Amino acid sequence: MLDLVIRGGQVVAPWGVGTWDVAVQDETIVAVAEPGQLTRDVGRVIDATGKIVIPGGIEPHAHCAMPLPYPNARAKGTRASPPDVVSKACIFGGTTTVVDFANWKPGLRLVQAIEEKDTLFKNSSYADYTFHGVLVGMGTEGSTPQKAVDLPLSLIDEVPELIQAGYNTVKVWTTNATTQRPRQMMDFGHVWGVMQQVAKAGGVLAVHAEDEDIVMYMHRRLHQEGRIGTEFLHEAHNTVSEDLSFRRTIRLAERTGCAIYLMHVSAKEGVDAIAEAQRRGLPVYGETLHHYATFTHEVYRKPEGPLYHTYPSLKASEDHAALWNGLLRGAISTIATDVLFCPAEIKLAGHTIEDTVGGNAATEERVGITYTEGVVKRGMSLPRFVDVTSANAAKICGLYPKKGALAPGSDADIALIDPAIRKRLALSDLHAADHSVWEGWEIHGWPVMTILRGKVVVENGKLAGTASDGRLIGGRRTRTDVLRGAGALR
Ligand SMILES: [Zn+2]
Repeated sequence: MLDLVIRGGQVVAPWGVGTWDVAVQDETIVAVAEPGQLTRDVGRVIDATGKIVIPGGIEPHAHCAMPLPYPNARAKGTRASPPDVVSKACIFGGTTTVVDFANWKPGLRLVQAIEEKDTLFKNSSYADYTFHGVLVGMGTEGSTPQKAVDLPLSLIDEVPELIQAGYNTVKVWTTNATTQRPRQMMDFGHVWGVMQQVAKAGGVLAVHAEDEDIVMYMHRRLHQEGRIGTEFLHEAHNTVSEDLSFRRTIRLAERTGCAIYLMHVSAKEGVDAIAEAQRRGLPVYGETLHHYATFTHEVYRKPEGPLYHTYPSLKASEDHAALWNGLLRGAISTIATDVLFCPAEIKLAGHTIEDTVGGNAATEERVGITYTEGVVKRGMSLPRFVDVTSANAAKICGLYPKKGALAPGSDADIALIDPAIRKRLALSDLHAADHSVWEGWEIHGWPVMTILRGKVVVENGKLAGTASDGRLIGGRRTRTDVLRGAGALR
């Protein structure tokens, strides 16, 4: 007997799109078949007529329970919301896997940092989850500023151990982003060393790339000119910084043979650098955010401007054109949120280039907004929509085809989108944050059902899952042939 059959939907499979029936048994997809061919007894049949059936989304960039590195929040010991809040938003938005970060801190091995972060997620996640290992110049856990500790060289040499343990992605910053976060960054010498180890072990290096010199020079300049409000963030985190840092990072990747994933691409310069690298056959992949592709820095001038911000920064409308071009044609592989949930009150407490709180709450909106803005407004194909919301993140994070594919043998992580839904998004449509920059946004199509490993976890706007449903996904391996598929259109 089959556990579940989803009948009559428009199914987006790795080999194409068609009206097929999807069969699930023991948490796994066992068949994608022509209608009427699945004649065995079935535990439950879901009628998906008129719906689009896609693999559950993958949120590749989330920061749950992170201590907030801003003066106001630090003073109060405020942390970002925990995994149960974020993962609940994920499943309501059609996302079934969330990738968070496990920051190294002094005294821990990198693998232990993963284990430590897992204790926060265990029995506290509605979605499956895993972590990028993070190398930082000092410990960042804890609510008060800690004593800066030099990054030990032995940590760099430990990177292969982490990758061999089944966590194939490691992240570094090339900037401190603000003057309030000393030694978050790694200089290019150390990044070079990390890349050598990541390349040796066959992993992927995720990079928050900004040019520290440009960013900090602009901080000085903006302070001197008395222009330090949130509305000047894009002048500090500017397109020159993206241009220089991306090209320098890509050059190091080329010299070391390291695969890289450039996070939150915000500018045309970033897209161009990635596209050029891909044309030269380099394993260089880009992520953007739905916020970055949709809002310009003009919104920073609104009273609620800080709600729209994450680092580096929103840019201009010509950058949107480049980001969408990248999303449609291949240079940009994924749409992420850079998730950080905190109350609007905290987001709005920062007003300057030093203390505007980064991170976006809109992980629930990610898949639906990408459908509206990509598929409906810009003619993105359904396979490409699946690539940027799910499959490519799975390929980069070594999860594919267990995750990110609607195919026999894959985990039965499935979302149904109702393309007929047309409305203005209300805060009451959402389930976790106390604010949304998408409130009032015209949407056309929205996720209506989410299935995690064969279990219906959201149905008709109601929660059916529990916080103990989510599991840690280890055993992640980069497969070169699969990873290549996350790049420019094949
Ligand atoms: Zn982030």
